[in-house]
Amino acid sequence: MEQIRIKTSRSCEFLDITSSIENVVRKSGVKSGICYVFVPHTTAGVTINENADPDVVKDIIMELDKIVPLKDNYLHAEGNSAAHVKSSIIGCSQEVIIEENSLKLGTWQSLFFCEFDGPRSRSVWVKVMGS
Ligand code: ZN
Repeated sequence: MEQIRIKTSRSCEFLDITSSIENVVRKSGVKSGICYVFVPHTTAGVTINENADPDVVKDIIMELDKIVPLKDNYLHAEGNSAAHVKSSIIGCSQEVIIEENSLKLGTWQSLFFCEFDGPRSRSVWVKVMGS
């Protein structure tokens, strides 16, 4: 397993981590298999979406903010319930097929680390399986 370290700079942001994950796959030497990407945090997530127009990510963040308001009658005393809820909506893992020692992503797809309670130091765990 490989660990990627990330420093986020905003309370809510999506960071394109595709090249970091691609480096792990290349180093592994695996030609054909699966890359499993796991975020070990309860107020962050990982998703795959469009990398060409940065407005797509902005729209996703805007809509998540509408679905999950920052302030509500939340019970969790830490005060970051919205971040926990967004983390569960997005999810904490993704799998991508590996072919020819490379991530098999669509033309416009990237892997995004999703920060919902930053800025923080974060980790992403990557497991490459195959041969
Ligand atoms: Zn909390």
